[in-house]
Amino acid sequence: MQTLIINIKELLQVRDNPIDKVSGAEMAILPKIDNAFLLIEDNLIADFGSMANCPTIKADQTIDATGKTVLPTWCDSHTHIVYAGNRIQEFVDRINGLSYEEIANRGGGILNSAKKLNETNEEDIYNQSKVRLEEIMQQGTGAVEIKSGYGLTVDGELKMLRVIRKLAANYPIKIKATFLGAHAFPTEYKENHAAYIDLIINEMLPKISEGKLADYIDTFLETGYFSVQETEKIMEAGKKYGLIPKIHVNQFTAINGIKACVKYEALSVDHLEIVTDEDIEDLKGSKTMPVALPSCSYFISIPYTPARKMMAAGLPLALATDYNPGTTPSGNMNFVVATACIKMKMTPEEAINAATINGAYAMGISQTHGSITKGKSANIIITKPLTTYYEMAYSFTSNLIETVFIEGKAI
Ligand SMILES: [Zn+2]
Repeated sequence: MQTLIINIKELLQVRDNPIDKVSGAEMAILPKIDNAFLLIEDNLIADFGSMANCPTIKADQTIDATGKTVLPTWCDSHTHIVYAGNRIQEFVDRINGLSYEEIANRGGGILNSAKKLNETNEEDIYNQSKVRLEEIMQQGTGAVEIKSGYGLTVDGELKMLRVIRKLAANYPIKIKATFLGAHAFPTEYKENHAAYIDLIINEMLPKISEGKLADYIDTFLETGYFSVQETEKIMEAGKKYGLIPKIHVNQFTAINGIKACVKYEALSVDHLEIVTDEDIEDLKGSKTMPVALPSCSYFISIPYTPARKMMAAGLPLALATDYNPGTTPSGNMNFVVATACIKMKMTPEEAINAATINGAYAMGISQTHGSITKGKSANIIITKPLTTYYEMAYSFTSNLIETVFIEGKAI
């Protein structure tokens, strides 16, 4: 099956030689071809280039993209889209002035989601979650990482990870699963952290490993949640099962968590609303991708990740949604890219690099996703006619996507 897309006004993120990520000043460069063609064969990108070199073949399907932009689909490396119910009441409580802490004391927050998840059967959770997965695919996401972390019991965590695996089996979108048993301490372990960490290490991890249910391991490393020391213990245990860390860190406080994550060769450190000079030094020269989640900053009115400062220090940066029921009930990567430009002062080139190739790196798939490169998965967005691709950030609430291809097929 061949699909030939012709007369593309702007073909973005073209990389002849495969790269795994872009860092620092390189992030400002988004290679593109004007008046281009793109050839898809089965599920892969077979060829691309200027229209002057367009092959004269009779493809099974030819799409005229006059006036339109084509770019790789978004790689959303941080989500929690498997959950039960919602937290709409907490949203309204917050509007009425209740603090995060007061909401938590009323049984809200992560423990509220955990209660709902444990009361809901697996099929129901799957059916609720697949609606969100289908929605983000329509919004241009072609690869997504999904975390557990609303079970906080052996059964609940396994149930969530099985749902993630089932979604991966039933949908063409690339899905990576992360075990986040260390999302919060269940009420019965509030005074006995060691016992819950033992449960994670001795009961959850062996079962998850046996069922091959997770690719990565995560912890909410934060004041009042998991300490640096507790996180190190969990990263160490995960390592024995081949689970590489991707860690929630520096959302509200900076407590030298990033140093520990780098020491354990975390694939990514995510949130980073509060970043110190020392954190930046720790990240320099490491293989760890910093990940910013601007929709979360927007929704709960907390600072945005200091992208300019981090890129000026030569660091890479990825963008993801953090789609979850409490602090970011949105999986729209177009909004993330626009918000990164509007609020974090990233240029459209930097934001698109961060949401494609660097997002792919942050979930370990940059060899197959995140750029227009021969042999990579044919995951592309075709936009509606645009003045320039800058419009994708400028017209920040318009739906500018016309068609999304995942694994070579229009969805
Ligand atoms: Zn998160």
